[in-house]
Amino acid sequence: MVKKVNAGALAESQAPLTCPPHLCYNPAMIVMKFGGSSMAGPDRIREAARIIKMYAAQKPVVVLSAMGDTTDYLLEAAEKALTGTVDLGAVRKLHRGAIAALGIDVPGLDSLMTEMETLLTGMSLLRELSKRSRDYLVSFGERLSVRIMAAYLNTHVLPARAVDAWDGGFRSDSDFTKAELLDSVWQDIPKAFEPYTSGRDNAIPMVTGFIAKDDTGRITTLGRGGSDLTATMLGAALKADEVQTWKDVDGILTADPRIVPNARLVPEVTYDEAAELAYFGAQVLHPRSMNPCRKTGTLVRVKNSSNPQAAGSVIREKHSGPVPPVRAITSVKHVKLIDIVSTRMLGASGFLAHIFNQFLKWNISIDMVATSEVSVSLTVNTPEDLTGLLEDLRKVAAVECHSDKAIVTIICDAAHSGSILAAAFAALKKQNINVQMISQGASKVNVSMICDDSEADTAVRTLHEALFDTLLAAGLLIKGSVCT
Ligand code: ASP
Ligand code: MG
Repeated sequence: MVKKVNAGALAESQAPLTCPPHLCYNPAMIVMKFGGSSMAGPDRIREAARIIKMYAAQKPVVVLSAMGDTTDYLLEAAEKALTGTVDLGAVRKLHRGAIAALGIDVPGLDSLMTEMETLLTGMSLLRELSKRSRDYLVSFGERLSVRIMAAYLNTHVLPARAVDAWDGGFRSDSDFTKAELLDSVWQDIPKAFEPYTSGRDNAIPMVTGFIAKDDTGRITTLGRGGSDLTATMLGAALKADEVQTWKDVDGILTADPRIVPNARLVPEVTYDEAAELAYFGAQVLHPRSMNPCRKTGTLVRVKNSSNPQAAGSVIREKHSGPVPPVRAITSVKHVKLIDIVSTRMLGASGFLAHIFNQFLKWNISIDMVATSEVSVSLTVNTPEDLTGLLEDLRKVAAVECHSDKAIVTIICDAAHSGSILAAAFAALKKQNINVQMISQGASKVNVSMICDDSEADTAVRTLHEALFDTLLAAGLLIKGSVCT
């Protein structure tokens, strides 16, 4: 670890013996991210603090999510404000309760609580909730949690400091609720953390996940689960040795353990596979969070804060050993399947271009597509109203929209997709599950299929049994601890 040196003394001698210049200017460091469940109450906070202390010698920068379900509570409070009621009871209880149990005094807490209440009162008077004010409101969750953790560490463990992401270089565009980080973060983050990375300041930074500010200083959020992106961005920009995301599962599992109780640990996946996993329903990481680390090759490790000794899962550019044919089975429910058949006999290119332009116009993103010369089937997963889009599509095509569909995805190696599909379909047929559409992703690491929502869990269980039992028997997977 870099020894803390007095800045004046450093200037005098230029190269103190205790701190070789290469270490002073580019010390090894890690980023540790704790999600909401790892911050859910006083016991989990103590546990997270213990883990941070364990890694103190590796110079961690810590990223925190809001405590427990705070983001959901705040969103509920915003909805209630629209009916004229101001109710921060759940948020207050969770935070005040933790602070009392931890026996800490949190600087700045009262003014944040007051600001949050004033904002909510404003919303209730105006009965108006824009995406911008929603982002402003949910930002309090992360702002509170970093202050609580910093206060706890300072009181009981080690020097720490709370950092609001915008003071750590996080700037975004103004696409409220799903903002994109600006390129300037690559320069601004290292600048903002230089006092810490250079060893002049030894208070461990506790950085708010999920939030940023746009160029005019308005608070934005990076989309639900966005703290992962904060962590990977920090890790990539600071050239960290690794980014650890601490969760309440042992790592990436072969399926959602609530659906498949004997889901197993996946020891290693690539950035591409992790991104597919995230898009297709595994609650592992924020879908966009792989982008920064993919650029720099920074290793990401998923660890369990209730079981810190477990190895976890590693996410890296390429598999380090033999590539297992199947990595995981995921599912996303409540998806809409839209079947579009051209009524105008447009050529395939004109037809598809026209169809996709309508999705662009209504800003609806498409997950899966299957096409033929004059028809296209695609899926969308959005709570937004599709009436306008469907009306536009119906001007050139016969359109049917089916709700309550599910996407079941096999994250696998394309080289084996033929035999994987054969085994998958044979197993699904035995269960009488009707696959309504299938597509193999261009990134060649997934095969996705559509079935009814009501059949999704059975499909996942069936595929898991069919594809993993064989593989496990062949010794291609290790058994992880089973989470329930
Ligand atoms: N607190 C935010 C959420 O619940 C961000 C995060 O947890 O990553 O979505
Ligand atoms: Mg959360």
